[in-house]
Amino acid sequence: MAEIIDGNAIADEIKREIIADTEKLKEKGIVPGIATLMVGDDFGAKMYRRQVERNCESVGFRYIEKSLPAETTEEEVVDIVRQLNEDVGVSGILPLRPFPEHISDSAVINTIRYEKDIDCFHPFNMGRLTLGEPTLPPCTPAACIEILERIGLDFVGAEVVVVGHSNIVGKPVALLMLNRNSTTTVAHIFTSQAGNLEKHTTGADILIVAAGKAGLITADLVKEGAIVIDVGINRVKVLDEEGNPVLDEKGKQKTKTVGDVDFDNVKDKCRAITPVPGGVGAVTNMMLLKNALTAAKSQKGL
Ligand code: NAD
Repeated sequence: MAEIIDGNAIADEIKREIIADTEKLKEKGIVPGIATLMVGDDFGAKMYRRQVERNCESVGFRYIEKSLPAETTEEEVVDIVRQLNEDVGVSGILPLRPFPEHISDSAVINTIRYEKDIDCFHPFNMGRLTLGEPTLPPCTPAACIEILERIGLDFVGAEVVVVGHSNIVGKPVALLMLNRNSTTTVAHIFTSQAGNLEKHTTGADILIVAAGKAGLITADLVKEGAIVIDVGINRVKVLDEEGNPVLDEKGKQKTKTVGDVDFDNVKDKCRAITPVPGGVGAVTNMMLLKNALTAAKSQKGL
């Protein structure tokens, strides 16, 4: 059976490193700070905001909350970003999307000073990432790399297949792997529709899956001994052995969080695998803090 990669343990280790670094910075009078920017009251964005706030507290960072009503104009939101750019107590700015329809993502993102863009949304930072230049890397892709590095993997010449080509996960994680000299293939929905997904995934030494489709990667799509990183987060119904819905005490359908990989079957075939929950997500949270710490240092010329 595969090694089940403990994302929570890796996250704890990174957190200890961040706390130690933050204490040293505080001796120099520097306190890293993260500002979240939310417009409206999207449920997912609110959950993430709370999580960022708690994470900041847990490592001794300053947390600045900017939560604006849904009717705030684009100009007003952009103005808040400009103020956060100028605020020396803010090392990193995190826009929490989705924004209401009348606010363009790019109007907000392009206003963030790239030195404070702690999830690598700004085109300038994505450009630097593409060129392999140092930048604050996007958190989820960086979490995949961090996990692979911490389990001691060598990427050079490795056959890496990324499933998913979104701007926030698939494309940047593929670039990060390419920058580490792996042989990188990106598969996506059109690869599946062309009937070619298995052809690519079965050749992967390292398979990174970010499709948002529960059960997409079954055991027959995975090479014996591969390393599998499951980025997907999906809410699915809990079913009993006969496939009937399982209800909670209030008579409501029970649900659970799963990844994109058929974990129970794939774990018997691969060398190591990240579970969901308890895998990439936990490490992603720490990468945001790590980026804010790096940003705080470089803004003070350290
Ligand atoms: P997205 O919807 O923007 O992109 C999905 C990608 O998967 C697309 O490139 C699409 O082509 C591909 N895809 C969809 N169905 C496919 C199929 N049948 N075969 C092959 N490719 C397919 O999603 P995203 O924002 O990139 O997120 C992907 C998943 O990762 C989601 O489940 C999301 O919740 C999760 N996620 C997790 C974290 C984390 O920290 N763990 C962070 C961000 C996103």
